[in-house]
Amino acid sequence: MRGRAVRLLARRLAHAVIDPEVLVIGAGPAGLTAATYLGRFRRSTLVVDGGAPRACWIPLSHNTPGFPAGISGPDILRRMQDQALEYGAVVTPGRVTALARDGEGFVARIGDHAVRARAVLLATGVVDHHPDLAGVERAVQRALVRICPICDGYEATDKAVAVIGHSDKGAREAAFMRTYSDRVTLIHIGPPEALTRQTALGRLGVEVVLADLDAVVLEQDRVTALTWGGRTRAFDLVYSALGTSPNADLAKQLGARLSADGRLEVDLHQATSVPGLYAAGDVVRGLNQIAVATAEAAVAATDIHNRLRRIDGLTIPE
Ligand SMILES: Cc1cc2nc3c(=O)[nH]c(=O)nc-3n(C[C@H](O)[C@H](O)[C@H](O)COP(=O)(O)OP(=O)(O)OC[C@H]3O[C@@H](n4cnc5c(N)ncnc54)[C@H](O)[C@@H]3O)c2cc1C
Repeated sequence: MRGRAVRLLARRLAHAVIDPEVLVIGAGPAGLTAATYLGRFRRSTLVVDGGAPRACWIPLSHNTPGFPAGISGPDILRRMQDQALEYGAVVTPGRVTALARDGEGFVARIGDHAVRARAVLLATGVVDHHPDLAGVERAVQRALVRICPICDGYEATDKAVAVIGHSDKGAREAAFMRTYSDRVTLIHIGPPEALTRQTALGRLGVEVVLADLDAVVLEQDRVTALTWGGRTRAFDLVYSALGTSPNADLAKQLGARLSADGRLEVDLHQATSVPGLYAAGDVVRGLNQIAVATAEAAVAATDIHNRLRRIDGLTIPE
């Protein structure tokens, strides 16, 4: 353990003066998977992370391939980081505040440092919009307030489920939850006119409540009550369908093409519209899933390596 800490420190110091070939921004499942691939392609790789990966909120994931008994988000991240370190990646805290072109490559500002790299992978994820209720973050960590029905809808089978939404996105999520339960209530906290699918929800047997929420009350293992306008109702669990914002500011600085919802547009190799700039994971349009993030990272890392081989004249003609 001590040897590993020393190795880590030595790598950090070395990289304080040596720029990496590839800079990976974000140490969630996408960034760490890319770092493992790049390390195994023998590319020097620096991974910087300026916050908490979304994955660290996962209490227990049951759909991550290879873990039939489930695995927690922090455990996934620990394993992924260990694997990346094994192949020489440097993983360090730090927020990239600016990213610009520097000849054929890039220069990133991290605190007082300027880091130069030949290629950059954005694995910066998204930020969740939680309902504005006291204690909600703790409830997410205890899986009482949930965010992702694709991830854990199965575990809501036959439960009394409330979905909090403020547009037709909430309606779509409530309809999706009918896969698992016939006791689904949409609590629509936005302006009523933002919900245009109320009749269709009624046909699916989804109850609709139009009201602003005052509080969520939690017990040991269930949401004991949601309260609105003096009314109180008990549910087993609550889904928040208030959406996310992609962390795409650095890509915007470089003029990369974004889709209508602000996520990064990429080609089949995860390359953005800016040569040498790649993106993988939640920040790219997609399912917001670990399996997708890791798959995209593998594709991106391989193309980054092949691109650098081409630039260095180390490929043979097709
Ligand atoms: C409660 C919850 C439960 C979930 N359950 C599951 C599940 O069971 N199965 C599943 O497949 N998925 C699940 N997910 C989704 C899963 O967590 C994400 O799909 C996955 O984490 C995406 O990985 P990522 O690497 O793209 O982004 P993230 O894991 O979010 O990592 C992105 C990182 O980039 C960093 N970053 C952003 N901008 C900068 C910057 N400028 N400089 C430096 N660092 C930066 C962020 O701080 C963050 O640490 C769940 C999510 C939540 C919130």
